[in-house]
Amino acid sequence: MSNHVLITGASRGIGAATARLFAREGWDVALNYNKSQMEAEALAAELSGLGGKAVPIQADVSVPEEAARLVREAEEVLDGLDAIICNAGIALPQQLLTDTTPEQWRRLMSADLDGVFYTLRAAIPGLVRQKRGAIVTVSSMWGITGGSCEAPYSAAKAGVIGLTKALAKELGPSHIRVNCVAPGVIDTDMNGHLSPEELAALGEEAPLCRIGTRSEVAQAIYFLASERASFITGQVLAVDGGMVI
Ligand code: NAP
Repeated sequence: MSNHVLITGASRGIGAATARLFAREGWDVALNYNKSQMEAEALAAELSGLGGKAVPIQADVSVPEEAARLVREAEEVLDGLDAIICNAGIALPQQLLTDTTPEQWRRLMSADLDGVFYTLRAAIPGLVRQKRGAIVTVSSMWGITGGSCEAPYSAAKAGVIGLTKALAKELGPSHIRVNCVAPGVIDTDMNGHLSPEELAALGEEAPLCRIGTRSEVAQAIYFLASERASFITGQVLAVDGGMVI
């Protein structure tokens, strides 16, 4: 019998790489997307070819009703969920906090922190009924250290870590593990505004002297969601080439 996972923000980047890995490992996958319908449908078609279910579901997770519908549809189409990966997120242009408008702050918080709350609020009752399951959230190294000119993003991602740790305690008695992955600089569209030289320079700041790939983050997410991490909960796993030690 296959396992079932819902991945938010699975149309591109780290989420798409994570969906590929789960599907290759034999899981049925609900692929959430917001705007990138073509990418999500193409990925679902590709992954369905591996033999399991791969179902794209449109929802803006920053809207509570849409996040709730997303979880409901994923549970129905996959016949229950064993793991939830809260990966969807956005970044703002790098700027001083004093240049950040309240609208930008709210947009960032809605997508990167509220979206995790709305998704998990809807998904947890199903996991608790089963008395098993795994949740993996995606934070950032900036959620651990804080990043200059990344204050709203740092605040949201620190919130994701706090939420993860609190839920690990709340849900442990129901045999549900809750962990977090904190990527460093990863080669995705989120960093598409940076030139190859700027990316290389950022990579040089890490002990491993390079930026990371989306599949390297996917491996960590998969590990934490899988039974291989059966006695691990409440942890933040940095996937950052040693940037935060
Ligand atoms: P990306 O390539 O820009 O992809 C972002 C994904 O999130 C897309 O699939 C997008 O869907 C989805 N998304 C955004 N807002 C959404 C919403 N409101 N509802 C549903 N889906 C939404 O970014 P990425 O680099 O893969 O980032 C994935 C996660 O890793 C994010 O949480 C990000 O903060 C975190 N992270 C990334 C890095 C990095 O260097 N790349 C570093 C640390 C942490 P649509 O395109 O369909 O709208």
